[in-house]
Amino acid sequence: MKGLLDRKFENGGVLVSRLDDLINWARLSSMWPMTFGIACCAIEFMGTGATPYDMDRFGIVPRASPRQTDVMLVAGTVTFKMADRIKRLYEQMAEPRYVISMGSCSNCGGPYWEHGYHVVKGVDRIVPVDVYVPGCPPRPEALIGGFMKLQEKIRNESLMAPGAVEKLLES
Ligand code: SF4
Repeated sequence: MKGLLDRKFENGGVLVSRLDDLINWARLSSMWPMTFGIACCAIEFMGTGATPYDMDRFGIVPRASPRQTDVMLVAGTVTFKMADRIKRLYEQMAEPRYVISMGSCSNCGGPYWEHGYHVVKGVDRIVPVDVYVPGCPPRPEALIGGFMKLQEKIRNESLMAPGAVEKLLES
């Protein structure tokens, strides 16, 4: 049995949408994260890519080069030695770009918060973070939830509004 939309558009009908909605739909359906497997949280990230969770079904396909990514996933402990590498790679990503902080270490220093002289107490001291995923480590469900939150953020953005691109470039 055909639905109302099927009947309405079956004879070469036209579907009308905002250009913003179309662009955002494409962007949020093809998030390509750059991976930072810098500590134990990365194991859960690998699990998220495995068969039971299958993050590919959301269009989330990890890439190794910053030139091909629009999401930086920081999964693990951010040491001071890594800090300038993270910032440099972030700056090499194309705009618009996003950051997901995965796990307590990346969010705030985690178990090293008080005595970890070698650990940055939150990756947001180096790069702007869009979504924080709590946990030590977060389970794959939580990471997928983080990507869903980022999808919501992208869905509500407008690249067509006057000055929107300039604003994104400034952030
Ligand atoms: S938050 Fe926990 S699991 Fe994740 S990198 Fe830190 S210590 Fe490891």
